[in-house]
Amino acid sequence: MDLFRPDKYYKSIYDVNYIDLKNNGIKCILFDLDNTLVPPNENKPNKKIHDLIDNLKELDFKIIIMSNSPKKRLAPFKDELVIDCSAFSLKPLKKKFNKILKEYKFDLSQIVIIGDQLLTDVFGGNRIGIMTILVNPISKKDFKITSINRRFEHFIETKLEKRNLFKRGKYYE
Ligand SMILES: [Mg+2]
Repeated sequence: MDLFRPDKYYKSIYDVNYIDLKNNGIKCILFDLDNTLVPPNENKPNKKIHDLIDNLKELDFKIIIMSNSPKKRLAPFKDELVIDCSAFSLKPLKKKFNKILKEYKFDLSQIVIIGDQLLTDVFGGNRIGIMTILVNPISKKDFKITSINRRFEHFIETKLEKRNLFKRGKYYE
């Protein structure tokens, strides 16, 4: 059950304390795309995302979008934001995490994943042993597979809450 608990929990990607991450040795940020950076129905980055990514680049973070969505969906983000992307990531499986670790040569302690799902982003990140940050989903709309995941997520949240490990809306860092 502890593998579903995020290390930190913020309201949104704009609330994350990136300076703190930097000071704690984080060098690479894996961002989930859908409902973390943009709602599932937005097909390219908006100005707010552009500004955030620019700021993070200035802080010298390596930014990678790690998404279970296909390459086609990620392409406009990769091109416009000039960042790397890992499509079809099959989170929470370890394969793509391992591929990224190998390709970019970061230590586990230097990477964080930021996403909106306990079942994919947080569970996947915790399994591999990197820092995990949960944010609330941007919109109530989900892809079909995600809405199935959400039911399990609700079940897990109830369990975590019973053990005082996590409560929706109770942010911590
Ligand atoms: Mg997501």
